[in-house]
Amino acid sequence: MKAEIIAVGTELLLGQIVNSNAQYLSQELAALGIDVYFQTVVGDNMNRLQQAIRTAQERADILIFTGGLGPTQDDLTKDALAAVLGRSLHLDRLALDHVEQFFKDRSRPMTENNKRQALSIDGATPLPNSTGLAIGNALSEDGKFYILLPGPPKELMPMFEEQVKNWILQQVLTEEQPLYSRMLKFAGIGESALETELIDLIEGQSDPTLAPYAKESEVTVRISTKASSITEAEQKLDALEAQIRSRLPENLYANEDVPIEKVIVDLLTEHGLTVAIAESCTGGLLMGNLTSIPGCATVFKGGIVCYSNDMKEKLLNVPHDLLEGENAPGAVSKETAEVLAEQVRMIMDADFGLSVTGVAGPAFSERKPVGLVYIGLSERDGSTTTFQLNLKGNRETIRIRSAKSILYQLWR
Ligand code: ATP
Ligand code: MG
Repeated sequence: MKAEIIAVGTELLLGQIVNSNAQYLSQELAALGIDVYFQTVVGDNMNRLQQAIRTAQERADILIFTGGLGPTQDDLTKDALAAVLGRSLHLDRLALDHVEQFFKDRSRPMTENNKRQALSIDGATPLPNSTGLAIGNALSEDGKFYILLPGPPKELMPMFEEQVKNWILQQVLTEEQPLYSRMLKFAGIGESALETELIDLIEGQSDPTLAPYAKESEVTVRISTKASSITEAEQKLDALEAQIRSRLPENLYANEDVPIEKVIVDLLTEHGLTVAIAESCTGGLLMGNLTSIPGCATVFKGGIVCYSNDMKEKLLNVPHDLLEGENAPGAVSKETAEVLAEQVRMIMDADFGLSVTGVAGPAFSERKPVGLVYIGLSERDGSTTTFQLNLKGNRETIRIRSAKSILYQLWR
């Protein structure tokens, strides 16, 4: 099954908005085992839209449209597809009720063109819009499948999740066995090192398949298999997961799509432990990431952003001699990371104290290279461990990777 995504909207061509719908749909289709061969963007223009449809009909089995279902004259997607297929449009009774009710609830007058949002292509399955007004459509003709979705992501995503997935499973993938996938998440290892470890599995793969990719400084491997039942799929995926885990037991931290922050919060909660954080070069990023996880309140005591040497001294009692002076180790040092982690743990009476200090760049600091980062991990028994990282990348990636690396050390 080959799919083409057709994003409709002149604002996409002008670069005013990012085509995030295409990204979302591509990921969802991949998870269903459908190959997306083309992503097309076309403006709100009747001729060019019809041309895009005809081109896609020649090279894809499934055409998925986003955008252009709204009330205005430049919303042309349904009209264009109806024209290409030689069909007409009709008002869908339920969708019209929904639009009318929307205006009634808000005591706003409904204009004639709002009715356009209730138009459906003859013979198509209407897809009600639970978060907006324009209905979507799904239909098949001559072995081709057409799915029309609204432009706003907050309308498109629930429509896809709640209705389109099922429609695809029931109408499109009837012959094929469903695809089951599992996400394996890794920390403390880069994408290329991971690929090297798994290269024979990647190259020799047929079923299950595995595909590594990196996102937001975390490495993920998706393993997928086609099977006739969940039990059969689980068995196959378990076997491959075990094989991968035995090679990288220190790095595989989850077998579902969760960030390491969530795993840490869950682990600390489970053991009734708490953590306090001192951040220099990451400026609060780690605390931000951690507090984005619901339920972190019971495990995260608090933290201090000690960006300047002055604050390292005043708030976290780092000795002046350690920070400044001819032969002082400096703010970016193993010694400073150690004191920061210990002090923040003691000040906040936590089970773990974490610290990070480093050179995020772009310029050198203390004549130390960009990407040199020290992290400290202090425990209640008084022991403190430090780790040196030599990270690559720009300021942003160094900061993100530092914040992830600390949690990885804690997880280990
Ligand atoms: P509406 O009923 O709001 O007019 P529509 O289905 O006609 O919806 P468009 O008019 O094409 O869709 O787009 C409406 C808004 O949806 C855009 O302004 C944009 O914010 C968002 N949008 C449209 N297409 C995309 C896309 N491909 N990716 C991300 N956002 C999009
Ligand atoms: Mg519109």
